[in-house]
Amino acid sequence: MRSIIIGAGPAGLAAAACLKRAGLAVEIFERSDRIGPAWHRHYDRLVLHTSRGRSALPFRPMPSRVPKYPSRQDVIDYLEDYADAFGLAPRFGCAVASVHSTAEGWRVRHAEGDTQAEVVVFATGLNGHARRPDWPGLAAFPGQVLHSSDYRDAAAFAGQRVLVVGFGNSGADIATDLAEAAVDTGLSVRGPVNLLPKEILGIPATSLGLLRKLFPPAVADRLTAPVVRALIGRPDAYGMVASDKGPMRQVLEDGKIPMIDAGALAQIKAGRVAVYPGIARIEGRTVVFADGRRADFDAVVTATGYGLDLKQMLPDAAGDVLDGSGRPRVSGGPTGRCGLYFCSYHVSPNGQLRQAAMEAQAIAADVSRLATADQTAARTAG
Ligand SMILES: Cc1cc2nc3c(=O)[nH]c(=O)nc-3n(C[C@H](O)[C@H](O)[C@H](O)COP(=O)(O)OP(=O)(O)OC[C@H]3O[C@@H](n4cnc5c(N)ncnc54)[C@H](O)[C@@H]3O)c2cc1C
Repeated sequence: MRSIIIGAGPAGLAAAACLKRAGLAVEIFERSDRIGPAWHRHYDRLVLHTSRGRSALPFRPMPSRVPKYPSRQDVIDYLEDYADAFGLAPRFGCAVASVHSTAEGWRVRHAEGDTQAEVVVFATGLNGHARRPDWPGLAAFPGQVLHSSDYRDAAAFAGQRVLVVGFGNSGADIATDLAEAAVDTGLSVRGPVNLLPKEILGIPATSLGLLRKLFPPAVADRLTAPVVRALIGRPDAYGMVASDKGPMRQVLEDGKIPMIDAGALAQIKAGRVAVYPGIARIEGRTVVFADGRRADFDAVVTATGYGLDLKQMLPDAAGDVLDGSGRPRVSGGPTGRCGLYFCSYHVSPNGQLRQAAMEAQAIAADVSRLATADQTAARTAG
């Protein structure tokens, strides 16, 4: 059985390794020119909020010399070593445009032509395209406007007043990076938030997701809330509004990871990051906020997340396998269309790397089942 994996990020590598281990022929198509390209683009200060032990892909732990919370470079090194160890050699510069259903399986249309396969695994990631908001007046803002995916470090902003928009983990990290470099930093937080410390009693916050094996999400949230409050306080202490949903419910119901603090809250407390609400409009250099406050900025970093839409890539199967927002209904298991899989498209409270690892193994198990059924049918027919 021939399998094609689309994407050579962590999920694609994990899926390829698991399928290879199951004895299947695997080919990876990657549109960029390297393994795990997103990790090369991420900002320099990035350190995982998941621990080393819970960030590894199947069959290969991260080496013990890697710190408890691996850096961006540690992840890059690990992914490259992982590809080597399993003999994974993606076809680089080979973007897949679409995947079509055929009588024999799937036809993958890519930069170098068409390839037929019985199995196709989408592993193109949740960060399909950068979401770039468009506030009234933004087009006339005279300074630099960049998405968090284009931010590398604070050096380019020395002496400027910078507004970071959005308080997910990228926005929090970037605001911290700027404030630590003595850049005059504002932070626009539009909606209610959930804040978590990086660790609770020495346990990584992302590992608390495992509590949901024992309790319903709302109960797990209620159990952890007093400890979280004792460790970092309430959002209103930082000029933010608390979400009425706890962190676990937020991940499971809205697919949104809470802000896991890696230094941003201390910067806010120390007055080095000024917190504002959402943006109403922009007048020249002046940003007018929803509460009527006004402040001037030289640059805006939009840490406003990513969008995903796989519809165009699946002209024949989108209606069956994607939901109304263009996300796979099933990730990490049979989709209802034989041989078509998605790996790591559901946001997990336990960290996306771990989720990719688990889904890759589940997909390989299902493909092996298909392969066995295929062989049995061939033997019976023969
Ligand atoms: C700033 C940041 C910090 C994070 N920190 C953590 C953390 O601490 N712990 C954790 O567990 N997770 C973390 N994540 C989440 C997640 O683990 C990563 O986003 C991870 O890279 C997802 O892996 P992936 O393979 O699903 O997607 P990606 O890494 O995005 O890989 C997708 C690949 O598919 C390729 N591709 C896309 N479209 C096509 C196409 N049409 N044809 C061919 N190739 C294509 C892309 O070029 C890319 O190589 C973080 C994410 C971000 C953005």
